[in-house]
Amino acid sequence: MSAATRASSGRTKLVAGNWKMHGSLASIDALVSALVAGKKGGAKMLLCAPYPYLKTVADRLAGSDILLGSQDVSTRIGSGAFTGEVSGAMLADVGCRYAIVGHSERRTLFGESDAIVAEKFKAAQQAGLVPILCVGETLDEREAGRTEEVVERQMKAVLDAAGVAAFANAVVAYEPVWAIGTGKTATPEQAQAVHAQIRSMIARQDATIASGLVILYGGSVKGGNAAELFAMEDIDGGLVGGASLDAAEFLKIYDAASAR
Ligand code: PEP
Repeated sequence: MSAATRASSGRTKLVAGNWKMHGSLASIDALVSALVAGKKGGAKMLLCAPYPYLKTVADRLAGSDILLGSQDVSTRIGSGAFTGEVSGAMLADVGCRYAIVGHSERRTLFGESDAIVAEKFKAAQQAGLVPILCVGETLDEREAGRTEEVVERQMKAVLDAAGVAAFANAVVAYEPVWAIGTGKTATPEQAQAVHAQIRSMIARQDATIASGLVILYGGSVKGGNAAELFAMEDIDGGLVGGASLDAAEFLKIYDAASAR
């Protein structure tokens, strides 16, 4: 790994693309080819594809160091009569290394509570996947001055259920709901304040785990704003939705992370 890849924190930057429910076999083939050809830096790159395309993307990534992840995981372990569910073991079996849990779209559109998110976090780890735990406040919560309280509650639910040691093998993504897919990005200072809060929450229980914890920012990250966000002390990369569907734009974000 190049010296340029490691921030002064020692944490390797990570840029994750969340394709959500977008794409087709043809479009992901073109996207993955462009990313494999264009990835030159030393930061980590992760692609979170829709379930039906995971195996195809895994095959396309063979021989590259780009990582594969899922956008969700079942709370259920092993196998069984759980129609429609996809287990962590299945995801690992097709080549996933990471699983997003608690994305705000899962929480708000599909009713996932803090308790369910905590179950998913544990289920991912049990299958050997690294959970990317998403937390973040809505616009109303921010305007009511409740950002800190909301993020604390979301983090505490997982900390209480899984224990601090579980965070040695996890990633946290701070994603203010008002910034996701809206074109409104948190300022670097707004994001840094919440990232520092998350890190200090973990540090209260284990300083070593806290200093190694990768905390991503998500919410309208683009090529044009990535560098200033990634320059902040506690921002270790990005979870990128819309811009991850455009290879050139995603590579700009990735290059900004690799340059730190
Ligand atoms: C996301 O999907 O997690 C996200 C941050 O989306 P966008 O980058 O489009 O705001």
